[in-house]
Amino acid sequence: MLKGKVAVVTGGSRGIGAAICKLFAENGADIAFLYAGNTQKAEETQSLLENLGVKAKGYQCNVADAAQTAAVVKEIVADFGGVQILVNNAGITKDKLIPMMKAEDFDAVVDTNLKGSFYMIKQVYPLFLKQKAGKIINISSVSGLIGNAGQANYSASKAGLVGLTKSVAKELASRGVCCNAIAPGFIATDMTETFAVNEEIKNAIPMKRFGKTDDVAKLALFLASDASDYITGEVIRIDGGMAM
Ligand code: NAP
Repeated sequence: MLKGKVAVVTGGSRGIGAAICKLFAENGADIAFLYAGNTQKAEETQSLLENLGVKAKGYQCNVADAAQTAAVVKEIVADFGGVQILVNNAGITKDKLIPMMKAEDFDAVVDTNLKGSFYMIKQVYPLFLKQKAGKIINISSVSGLIGNAGQANYSASKAGLVGLTKSVAKELASRGVCCNAIAPGFIATDMTETFAVNEEIKNAIPMKRFGKTDDVAKLALFLASDASDYITGEVIRIDGGMAM
């Protein structure tokens, strides 16, 4: 489905991002993925992808740093010859109730989750305009749609991604570029490890289970492929019915 395409996936070394990289690679895409600092995990993911027979490379880059995103996209274009798909998946949490939440906690989460996505979009924007094609997929969260106590910073960043997605979609719709968001509920990864044993949370999900990283990857594949060419500015929940 993605043969001949180059996909850039932020936070592609672990969790949902790694599952997206793997499924995209299985579908023929070459993969440039970004990670924050866990080099060992990034090297493991890179070899796994290379073993699938595609070109793959991990780049250490803090998406919250505009200059680093500019440099890394330049490097990726030099290495891969172009970019056709961008998945803004890198994200962090710093959960606390507002009285305990420091301004730095708020800024760090918004800088990574929201501004990081803006910086990456800014870098691929001229490329996508020029080639009159491209797919941008932003990984939001149900927390950005319905809010969550203890996640004011995270929910604000993920709600911001919804506005960013729709604005980018409107700017680029007539140029053949689609921009959509995915809003996962609870997906079993390092990020949700602390919740994993909480039966109460599971019972609040109509499907009574956490999602799998592959569930999200399959939706990302659809949005990255030409099967979704007439869909833009959409936010798709993938949450076992939690936020309906
Ligand atoms: P994860 O397992 O914690 O992995 C996070 C990934 O992002 C890692 O590859 C990490 O790199 C990278 N990263 C973190 N900060 C970065 C930065 N500043 N610059 C570049 N890369 C950075 O996370 P996940 O659970 O897979 O979540 C992925 C996305 O889905 C996030 O945006 C998250 O908010 C969203 N989401 C997750 C869930 C869920 O239930 N898991 C639900 C809704 C939405 P290192 O390995 O180097 O640290």
